[in-house]
Amino acid sequence: MSTDRKTVDIAHIELAYLGFEGIASAILECKRCQLSENAINKVIMRGSERPKVLFIGEAPGKNEDETGIPFCGKAGKVLDELIDHMGLEEDEYTIINTIKCRPPNNRKPTQSELRTCRPFLLAQIELLDPEVIILLGNTAEKAFCVSSLAWGEPVITPKGKYLMKLYHPAALLYRRSLIEKQKRMIDKNKYIWQKR
Ligand code: URA
Repeated sequence: MSTDRKTVDIAHIELAYLGFEGIASAILECKRCQLSENAINKVIMRGSERPKVLFIGEAPGKNEDETGIPFCGKAGKVLDELIDHMGLEEDEYTIINTIKCRPPNNRKPTQSELRTCRPFLLAQIELLDPEVIILLGNTAEKAFCVSSLAWGEPVITPKGKYLMKLYHPAALLYRRSLIEKQKRMIDKNKYIWQKR
């Protein structure tokens, strides 16, 4: 077994104990699936290390692959607009993805890729310990292994965290009416991040 494999095979809870730098180096070293072969950059996280709200996207796209920064392209502009609408300050949120390497042609991550990258996702959630987790789209929901959340309807996890699924920002691109609908979902649920 290679060192890379060992690094990722440790449980996510142990990975979380390695802290942000430890998780980042385990991600950077990971070669567990083929996506790593073509990644220009692994895309790890952007935002606070103590967020109130954690956003989980799908996978890095072209811009993210080139820069290593999550949601830095067009979909990122939509996400930033929504974050602004939520009234969150810079130090109150963090953005990560279900997988850390760009899939070819921006296809959706496969089940196997989601499973392989999941220890990193869970370790990040454990370490970031947000009060509210926002799943951006169905892939984020699938990666988190929650079935059938309704859009914009928060549930409470066994750890007492709010979990809510919103539309993926890429689905809102050029669809103003859907952005307005998402903003109404946000307005209805503002209390979950404002009261804390
Ligand atoms: N779409 C995602 O899901 N994540 C990104 O980082 C960029 C686009």
